[in-house]
Amino acid sequence: MLKIEPLSFRLLSPDHYPADVAAPLVLDSPHSGTVYPPDFAPAIDFAALRTAEDTWVDDLWSNALELGVPLIGATFPRSYIDANRAADEIDPLLLDGEWPETLTPSSKVRLGKGLIWRMLDDGTPLYARKLSVDEVRHRIDACWKPYHRALGQLLDGAHQRFGKVWHINCHSMPSVAAAYATEKPGLVHPDFVLGDRDGTTAAPEFRQFVAQWLRAKGYDVAENDPYKGVEIVRFFGKPAQGRHSLQIEVNRKLYMDEATLRPAPGYARLQSDLRELVAALLDWMRPQLA
Ligand SMILES: [Zn+2]
Repeated sequence: MLKIEPLSFRLLSPDHYPADVAAPLVLDSPHSGTVYPPDFAPAIDFAALRTAEDTWVDDLWSNALELGVPLIGATFPRSYIDANRAADEIDPLLLDGEWPETLTPSSKVRLGKGLIWRMLDDGTPLYARKLSVDEVRHRIDACWKPYHRALGQLLDGAHQRFGKVWHINCHSMPSVAAAYATEKPGLVHPDFVLGDRDGTTAAPEFRQFVAQWLRAKGYDVAENDPYKGVEIVRFFGKPAQGRHSLQIEVNRKLYMDEATLRPAPGYARLQSDLRELVAALLDWMRPQLA
């Protein structure tokens, strides 16, 4: 079954989901959208803009579908509105007017990377204009809200059926951190970084299982450093209620040419390893279901 909300997301879910759902695992890819809306009007060239994407990440994980695991991917690009931010993480410096509600100052907003980005990871400003309150509202209503609602429904459905749900929030990272990407510019990234906000968005066993499995495959894996997980895992991960959310960052050098964004020779291998990882996770989860 393919469900599409054109401006917001596409949902790939197994036939008859959730009635025949194989296991309480849900995947989401909030940054792999590549449909650039005509009202975006950024002031930088398209190639630079695309560096903000987690290009191909939804496709890399899409074999999970064959195993009965649904995958929701944003269709809108991250540089238009970032689904992995709270809806009130709005940068006042971007606006041509006063936002009518109280705004939350956050570290991401200070980096120029709030709900709507003011600049790219390398510091390049995205716009040569201010944005109106109305156009920011439109991005929230048309993109952010339907995505969060659909992901929430998937997680609730699995939780209702199994009493527990595991969720992987799928991302990618450049091989080297850019100047404004994190608190550690210039850092050479490992193959994977797993984030559960220091064990607060999932029982630590979830992260530990994934780390161990990937290491056994020969990958180098960091945990909660330099990426701990951001808004989506923070909002949906409630381990005390049996809701476990883990962020997985995969190094782009493993699967694509970082300049052209073309899939690289490692693509198929990584895709097949991720399918195997999902299968291993399903085996690990089954005995934990009452
Ligand atoms: Zn991402």
